[in-house]
Amino acid sequence: MMRELYTQVIMDHCQRPRNRGKLEDADLEEHLLNPLCGDEVVVYAAFDGDRVAEVRFSGRGCAISQASASMMTERLSGKSLKEAEAEIEMFKEQMVGKKEFPKLDDLAALKGVVKYPSRVKCASLAWSAFHEGLSKGGRGSEELAIPEE
Ligand code: ZN
Repeated sequence: MMRELYTQVIMDHCQRPRNRGKLEDADLEEHLLNPLCGDEVVVYAAFDGDRVAEVRFSGRGCAISQASASMMTERLSGKSLKEAEAEIEMFKEQMVGKKEFPKLDDLAALKGVVKYPSRVKCASLAWSAFHEGLSKGGRGSEELAIPEE
C-alpha cells in the first residue's frame, strides 16, 4: 500500500539529498520532531537582507520526510522571506488537497501522500520547521525586518 508513495523522484531525493548538512552561523535554525513516525529534521537558513540566501537541512526519518526536506531547500532558496512564507502556505494547502501541485516540479511526487493523512505530517515536517523558524525571526535576530508592501 505504501509502495506507490515511494516514487522515483522521492527515492532520488533520499539517495542524493540536496543541501543536506548543517549550516554554520545560520540565521534560522529550527528543530522539529514528528513523533507519529519518528522523523526528525533540522532546517537551517542564511538570509541576505530579506532574501533566503541558503537553505539546508539535517535529520533522519522516513523517505517522505527526508525527500520533502530536500525538495524544500531547493524550492525556498533564493526566495524573499515573503515568498518563502507563501510557498510554505501553498505547500500546506497542497498537502490537504486544497491546491494543485505544481506540474514539472519535484514536489508533484508528493501528491500521492495526500491520500495518507498520517504521512502528511512526514511531508510537512521540514516546511513546518522553516515556518516556525521564520515566525521566530530566525535565531538570535529578534529585530529581523520583514519589509512591508
Ligand atoms: Zn515519516
